[in-house]
Amino acid sequence: MKKVLLILLFFPLVESPAHALFEGDSAKRAAIGGPDYPYPEISGVQVQNNTDYDIEELVAWFCNRIGLRDVFIRVSYLREVPGYDGMVVMHHPKIYFIRIRKDINNYRWVCLHELIHVKQYVSGDLSVLGRSVVSYKGKRINLDEVDYKHRHYEHEAQWETVAFWKKFMRYKRDNGDVEG
Ligand SMILES: [Zn+2]
Repeated sequence: MKKVLLILLFFPLVESPAHALFEGDSAKRAAIGGPDYPYPEISGVQVQNNTDYDIEELVAWFCNRIGLRDVFIRVSYLREVPGYDGMVVMHHPKIYFIRIRKDINNYRWVCLHELIHVKQYVSGDLSVLGRSVVSYKGKRINLDEVDYKHRHYEHEAQWETVAFWKKFMRYKRDNGDVEG
């Protein structure tokens, strides 16, 4: 029971701020391989870890688990966004930037939560319609009007994080790692 409470308390801290979804400006595109289109060829699951966190195995496992191939995922530190432990930006259907707050213990949990959002983008369930407006399973959500705790894609991300965390821990145990 205690564990469940801790998890529920943690949830509101994980978020993908809407403004972050629009960071795909030309300077950043240039940084990942081209001034605009075309994006570089991506073959296999490429993880660029710009943090000291141990997340490569989790990201690779998750992509493999959901059958996501030819994808580039960069993980770096989140800078000074009060109230947030993580966020994800889709630059392209095959390019995602995840950011995780520095100096937290549950960085893999936060990373997994953001990977669930990647899964939502890839499946087409979640898409960006405009600044602060997303579509989730065909329903338009204005993020300025709908509070974090009432966003259905966050509800799904929360319970899917729990489900995938259990799967990841089982995978770790099956591979001889004693954890969780
Ligand atoms: Zn979220």
